[in-house]
Amino acid sequence: MNLRQRFAEALMPNYGTVELALTHGEGAVVYDVDGKDYLDFIGGIATSVLGHAHPALVAAVGDQVAKIAHTSNLFINQPAVELAERLLGLFDVPGKVFFTNSGAEANECALKLAMIHGRPDGRTRFVAAADGFHGRTLGALALTGKDVIREPFAPFGVDVTFVPYGDVAALAETVDHTVAAVFLEPLQGEAGVKPPPAGYLSTARTVCDNAGALLVLDEIQSGMGRTGAWFAHQQENVTPDVVTMAKGLAGGLPMGACIGLGPVGDLFGPGAHGSTFGGNPVSAAAALAVLDTIANDGLMDNAVTMGRRLVDGMAAMGHPLVQSVRGRGLWLGIVLNEELAGTVVTALRDRGVLANAVRPDVVRVAPPLIVTEADVDRFLLELAHAADVVYPRGGRP
Ligand SMILES: *Cc1c(COP(=O)(O)O)cnc(C)c1O
Repeated sequence: MNLRQRFAEALMPNYGTVELALTHGEGAVVYDVDGKDYLDFIGGIATSVLGHAHPALVAAVGDQVAKIAHTSNLFINQPAVELAERLLGLFDVPGKVFFTNSGAEANECALKLAMIHGRPDGRTRFVAAADGFHGRTLGALALTGKDVIREPFAPFGVDVTFVPYGDVAALAETVDHTVAAVFLEPLQGEAGVKPPPAGYLSTARTVCDNAGALLVLDEIQSGMGRTGAWFAHQQENVTPDVVTMAKGLAGGLPMGACIGLGPVGDLFGPGAHGSTFGGNPVSAAAALAVLDTIANDGLMDNAVTMGRRLVDGMAAMGHPLVQSVRGRGLWLGIVLNEELAGTVVTALRDRGVLANAVRPDVVRVAPPLIVTEADVDRFLLELAHAADVVYPRGGRP
């Protein structure tokens, strides 16, 4: 049996059919079990921000695992403390950090903070966006606006009202003194890399302030420099009460964080929450290497420059299959005129390029932040070929 057959025999079928088995990588390139190379423009779903086998990441992880791989939270570990300090330094108000192993868990932490915030005034409702995504654990799933993944597991015992994303009037109408918190993505990732109208987040801030609700921003996919700032909301000058992050945080190692800014950072009393692996020293050391490398190598500027090159290149291509390109920095949704994203992604893969069909009509790219002009130009060339194969310029085949 080949690896794909063994995968299907041994692992639960929730991921459907998975075609490729990857063995290793270097920079923005990954290799499959047959030794074929691919330009990686999905980066472990916006996770491998430094690309693959980055020397700084390799050294940080190797050094730390050789010292101590795990301590649990019965004991302090230095990388976690340093990382918490460094993360707090990225915000202009003081706060406190809780470390998790994933994005969903970071949102669970945010949900618990919001419950503690709301309980004294009897605020028991939550507001989130239609089509939003916050994770698969039950609390995070309750907040997730994608009906097809939420409904099979409802109800959750969490009272969530969904509002259309980007609609300020709907938000103002829905958020009142019964609401503990509003959960939003600064740009919606799983909805197809969808930015809100300008000013949406600042209005959300005002609406929350007026109602006494917390504003929780889920930066799990949008954070860690991908949009050209450490966190996407910082480009709108909004200060949330809670920020959650994960994906790119440790450059591919499992780690998430929930940051409570201002008084929210002190809402948990001793024993209120916990995680055995949260703040694991190896993941924390990896995250410190990620923060250093993004800052020292100018990777946020690179995200902006390379993102613009991608957008300009696709505009110049003017392919009839491509309706528009949206997103920010190195995080783009290529919106197609027909529901052919899966076919385009397969055609790209056949030509040695990895991307993802985030929706039937949207191809998502979220490459490592280290990509070069040559990588971007190769992607553009292969995208043009793939689009021609799937949708010839002269009309459908
Ligand atoms: C990926 C993602 C999550 C869930 O993160 P996991 O690590 O898969 O639990 C939550 N919110 C957003 C916006 C995400 O993109």
